[in-house]
Amino acid sequence: MGTWDYSIFWKETLNQLKTELSEQEYAMWFNMEYETSGELSVIVSVPSAFYRDQVKQRYQSRIEGKIFELSGQHIGIDFEVKQRSREEAPKASPKAVSAPMHESVTTGTKVYSGTASHAQRQEAEKPSRDSHPQLRKDYIFDNFVIGENNSFAANAAIAIAKNPGVAYNPCLIYGGVGLGKTHLMQAIGNLSWQEKGCKIIYITAENFTNEFVEAIKNSTTQNFKNKYRNADMLLIDDIHFLQKKNETQEELFHTFNALYDANKQIIFTCDRPVSELKNLSERLRSRFERGLNVDLQPPSYETRCAILAKKIETRGVHIPQEVINLIAKNISSNVRDLEASLTKLIAYAELTKKPVTLETAQQQLRDTFGSPKQNNVTIETIQKVVAEYFSLSYTDLKGKKRTKAISFPRQLAMYIAREITEYSTTELGMEFGGRDHTTVMHGCQKIEERLKAEPSLESTILKLTKMIKDYNS
Ligand code: ADP
Ligand code: MG
Repeated sequence: MGTWDYSIFWKETLNQLKTELSEQEYAMWFNMEYETSGELSVIVSVPSAFYRDQVKQRYQSRIEGKIFELSGQHIGIDFEVKQRSREEAPKASPKAVSAPMHESVTTGTKVYSGTASHAQRQEAEKPSRDSHPQLRKDYIFDNFVIGENNSFAANAAIAIAKNPGVAYNPCLIYGGVGLGKTHLMQAIGNLSWQEKGCKIIYITAENFTNEFVEAIKNSTTQNFKNKYRNADMLLIDDIHFLQKKNETQEELFHTFNALYDANKQIIFTCDRPVSELKNLSERLRSRFERGLNVDLQPPSYETRCAILAKKIETRGVHIPQEVINLIAKNISSNVRDLEASLTKLIAYAELTKKPVTLETAQQQLRDTFGSPKQNNVTIETIQKVVAEYFSLSYTDLKGKKRTKAISFPRQLAMYIAREITEYSTTELGMEFGGRDHTTVMHGCQKIEERLKAEPSLESTILKLTKMIKDYNS
């Protein structure tokens, strides 16, 4: 120990923060260990560079403020990256989760992108199990690129995989199509399976429903119940499918309770926040909302480039950087589409035995880039068609004015967009002049109410939908 010892202030700072932050937040970020003190500084260790950057950004000034209050001196805090073996990992609290364990890679911009590889590399020496029959082998953390759009979800996922049933139970991962929900969920399953041999069941909500229906038909519901209630970890993908499936909801509710009471990990994915699900029993909704709900957002340009680079690396092919940039620039909202473009180029190169150049990429992907997201329908088309139909300008429809003559068409456009595209309300809000997702929800509700009172509105909607779908053809 040197001349200075501020450990007592550090400890008290932690005590105070523990009472001020939620248990989850504290467990997630305060996996730091006091190392030593310098002249007017406290040095603590953290498990990775990514972790250090996050903690600095989130808590440095708050921690320093507390130490100042306690000591009356301007003592700074320094973070030192120190990789720990799991045995040494500190137990910040009995319920503490292990820290985010991956390293970040600076991409030369302010955005960080890395994969969660460290968590898995650590286990590399262990004899690995055969792959899990229900999980995709390539859906592992090592192949999952972490960017600002998914870092919270990814870190929570790693924490869960390392400590199933402990900190974030249940966990619900939500977000639009193709943003990595299934990948992340299965990565948790894969890691827990490899590390601990947990009894893991992965199933889509659709198959869960089908199996349950079969079980009723064949009078084997007891087997069904036993199967699901004996899992150590239950992964149910795409729970939005359960809307209106009342009996399956009921069954899942009881399965949930049995697993939850036994501290077994439960993870769900959903294409929207739980609050936006309809036709769902209140008690099941409250179960979904319990625990941790994390969302995946569309990746930024830099993260899209990093994802493409990762996919290229895994496939062991060569694609020039300018082609990566081209794809990343043109496809923004869906990682699956990003990957599909790449697959197309690789297939083309293999067939023609020619290398991929910027020119061939432009040629080959012209259709993909030209065609917008779902059923050739973009939000812009919807807005233009609706505006035209009501003799409004496109700008007004998207704009801030809230007169009745504009509000109704705007709400109608939101409603139609919600019906015929896969955009989330958050994305839609952005497309409608930067509005909040609650505004979109409210707009859709208004239309639903009006539909009940005014059935003729239905045919207007049908007509508009047809015009929208025909718009580009
Ligand atoms: P969702 O279930 O949300 O619709 P998926 O998990 O099926 O999306 O992901 C679609 C595709 O995109 C998968 O092939 C997945 O590997 C890939 N993907 C999504 N996010 C990432 C990411 N952050 N890093 C690497 N690949 C990703
Ligand atoms: Mg999925």
